[in-house]
Amino acid sequence: MGEESIEFLVKELKSRKNRNVYKIFDDYCDKFELDAAELEQLLISKYDAFRCDSCERFYSIKEYFVAEGECIFCTDNESEEDS
Ligand SMILES: [Zn+2]
Repeated sequence: MGEESIEFLVKELKSRKNRNVYKIFDDYCDKFELDAAELEQLLISKYDAFRCDSCERFYSIKEYFVAEGECIFCTDNESEEDS
């Protein structure tokens, strides 16, 4: 697993053009025989890529609430529904 290929992966995961980024993530795990949980930890700690399970996308820390486990767009939607 080279640095270059994982940086390419992060770009793909964060791209608004890609609709099914979980598939890209899973394919990458299969290709390089990585554990999904380990890859996710690596993305968080080294590549500023956080997974939002609500909209199934990856975000940088600026667009993500770690405590909520969701991106800022999903938490916005929820607070609007509450009020
Ligand atoms: Zn989200």
